[in-house]
Amino acid sequence: MKLIMLGAPGAGKGTQAKRVAEEYKIPHISTGDIFRANIKGGTELGMKAKTYMDAGQLVPDELVCDLVADRIQQDDCANGFVLDGFPRTIPQAEALDVALTKIGQKMDFAIDIDVPDENIITRMGGRRACLSCGATYHVVYNAPKVENVCDACGNALVIREDDKPETVKKRLDVYHEQTQPLIDYYTKAGILVSVDGTKNMDEVFADIKAVLGK
Ligand code: ADP
Ligand code: AMP
Repeated sequence: MKLIMLGAPGAGKGTQAKRVAEEYKIPHISTGDIFRANIKGGTELGMKAKTYMDAGQLVPDELVCDLVADRIQQDDCANGFVLDGFPRTIPQAEALDVALTKIGQKMDFAIDIDVPDENIITRMGGRRACLSCGATYHVVYNAPKVENVCDACGNALVIREDDKPETVKKRLDVYHEQTQPLIDYYTKAGILVSVDGTKNMDEVFADIKAVLGK
């Protein structure tokens, strides 16, 4: 099972990708998480990515494409994977197609989690992230048991630098301009399925499972 989670920032891609990964026993590959881990580790890639991320812009394609092409060829991806936050541009989607063709594979589904911009603003305002283990919470819709403490690993939760309202608006503009065209791209490829992302997390997951099947 090889799938892509599409959708605006804050639509719930990470939330659903984690559940899909667990249910279908496939790795969850989040380019955002990879960049945040690199920023935390002080790597050169992290330092390069941070400038773009903090400004609400996309990291240049050349810093993302090879990284994903390498990742999907690792052994744990043999039975599939769920991509979260990649591709985000048409050139990234084309690079993914090239990488998959080389290994004789293709994507099965691109799931678009559809959420209007108004809801996104509320979601992002309440998002709390654990930069240690990558878990994500929401102060209202998915609160941790103890305020600001990660249920999974006990570390402190933070508001992501790029979740500040001004940056969220910029990220939404970037999404509409550069990422939304992928909906057409994957519709033409015959693998796009849209789900209503305004439903609660369990309902969205049930709708995704209904698409993916067993
Ligand atoms: P993305 O990976 O698309 O940026 P997240 O999965 O991190 O989005 O979700 C953004 C925020 O919205 C998080 O705080 C998350 O807990 C919350 N969230 C995710 N799905 C839903 C939902 N269906 N209803 C309400 N809140 C949600
Ligand atoms: P995310 O965690 O998916 O919301 O990503 C956070 C930020 O990381 C984005 O706003 C971009 O700056 C950067 N990023 C993550 N994935 C990509 C990608 N595929 N292409 C370009 N930038 C990305």
